[in-house]
Amino acid sequence: MAVDSSLPSPLGPPACEKDAKALHFIEQTTRNAAAVQENVLAQILSRNAETEYLRRHKLGGATDRKSFRSKVPVITYEDLQPEIQRIANGDRSPILSSHPISEFLTSSGTSAGERKLMPTIQEELDRRQSLYNLLMPVMNLCVPGLNKGKGLYFLFVKSETKTPGGLLARPVLTSYYKSEHFKTRPYDPYNVYTSPNEAILCPDSFQSMYTQMLCGLLDRHQVLRLGAVFASGLLRAIRFLQLNWQQLAADIRRGTLSSKITDPDLKNCMEKILKPNQELAEFVTEQCGEENWEGIITRIWPNTKYLDVIVTGAMAQYIPTLDYYSGGLPMACTMYASSECYFGLNLNPMCKPSEVSYTIMPNMAYFEFLPYEPNSMSLDPTRLVDLVDVQVGKEYELVITTYAGLYRYRVGDILRVTGFHNSAPQFHFVRRKNVLLSIDSDKTDEAELQLAVDNATKLVLESLNASVVEYTSFADTKTIPGHYVIYWELLVKDSAEPPSSEALAQCCLAMEESLNSVYRQCRVADNSIGPLEIRVVKSGTFEELMDYAISRGASINQYKVPRCVNFTPIMELLDSRVVSKHFSPSLPHWTPARRR
Ligand code: AMP
Repeated sequence: MAVDSSLPSPLGPPACEKDAKALHFIEQTTRNAAAVQENVLAQILSRNAETEYLRRHKLGGATDRKSFRSKVPVITYEDLQPEIQRIANGDRSPILSSHPISEFLTSSGTSAGERKLMPTIQEELDRRQSLYNLLMPVMNLCVPGLNKGKGLYFLFVKSETKTPGGLLARPVLTSYYKSEHFKTRPYDPYNVYTSPNEAILCPDSFQSMYTQMLCGLLDRHQVLRLGAVFASGLLRAIRFLQLNWQQLAADIRRGTLSSKITDPDLKNCMEKILKPNQELAEFVTEQCGEENWEGIITRIWPNTKYLDVIVTGAMAQYIPTLDYYSGGLPMACTMYASSECYFGLNLNPMCKPSEVSYTIMPNMAYFEFLPYEPNSMSLDPTRLVDLVDVQVGKEYELVITTYAGLYRYRVGDILRVTGFHNSAPQFHFVRRKNVLLSIDSDKTDEAELQLAVDNATKLVLESLNASVVEYTSFADTKTIPGHYVIYWELLVKDSAEPPSSEALAQCCLAMEESLNSVYRQCRVADNSIGPLEIRVVKSGTFEELMDYAISRGASINQYKVPRCVNFTPIMELLDSRVVSKHFSPSLPHWTPARRR
């Protein structure tokens, strides 16, 4: 689209010429949302007309919405499994996309316990980059002077594997950080990071975090914004500082690098940056040595204007803790994205977390919306509405058609329309469907939790003549890292011989072993989830829980034990009935290789 960047932007005066172009792009694209969407669909369908998938659905080369909607089904990942598996096994024919699948992006959403594999094509990197390019121009409208300093961002690459057919499978951010788009990005004074690429790209998470923190400390007066992708990641960085500040201060004092940093590229790079600095070492020791860490972020990085972290959706649980450590700094949620597709951005990034709305960018994919009805069992595809036709106040499930070859694919996110920017709707992220527990990027649903309880029962409790009468769970984020708490009411056949503490600790581990691979990776490789805890409650506790729910209006006939709780009076009731607590004694099994 041709852009006249000399026009003033309705979003506000741009900070520079480059920003003017970006803001105009947002204006043009959102003003013409319907036409842009029609065009995106036509492009996707025409280039992929000869793919096996579209031929199977007899689209016959049609590129219009009507034919598309009447012939192509609305699907979930499970429906696409056979095609994905063939691509993973090495079938290079145009199954979903006429462009070669360049790699798989591994989603934090799982299917049968393993990360979902999302096919992607080379040019999607440009599309993702184009969304990243809009973030700072919007932020510069809200926070002036960001070109006068740097951003301290804790960014990490994660492990990658190859599919049997030889395609890489890795998280979308790992793919992006390892791309030339990121590694050789042009210098932008508004977007300078304290972390060198070598630190971000180091595959060892300890060495990566250590050097990113060290650089952040060395540049502490320069830091104007501080962030991580998700709130849980930023809190992990704070925890890391709590555990490692002595060593960091020692390195700063001597101007030498800890022997724990062994990556040759990283050592080389840090040698050029690190100089002895007695004064800074003393400052770090004084601040971090204090018992009270309230406001530590602003004490160490006094010029920080905002935290750049996602605190919407499951991450909202971390807002109070971030407030505590930052002394109430604003939190900016800048974008909404997934492995399948990057969706959009927040045009008012300095708003309160509870007011965050994401504007879906109509050029990123073709978007449809399924009106959300929690109790509806069947799916009526005629009810899907287009991007520009959603209604303010209503909730929808997001359905996407991407350039990489997902057609009418249900993402699983529930969004509520809050308004429009021009003709592009803005959405409040309500939640992801079917997620019971989440601490970091893990998402555990009810069936997975049930399976984990069954597993522990079978492997440990059965031989002890005990069983679980009832259970519920809770994501405890008061500790860093947070951890899963499972409340168990036990039936013990021989009350003289209840299961021992060791046996119950083994139950914790058995549960962890059967949770999905994202959970286990968070536990083992990322250290972003702590050991699972079982709290055994007195017999009769779950009946009391039911009495409580009924006293508050629940129907006796329809009452079901909630499988996850976070309402304070219920937590208090459960905690007051706890007779013993048990933790997983070791790490569950996890390797980068997929189990299937
Ligand atoms: P993944 O496929 O692992 O990259 O995870 C993508 C999912 O993370 C999305 O479908 C959302 O459920 C969630 N997510 C991404 N961005 C946001 C956001 N800004 N706010 C809330 N949830 C988000």
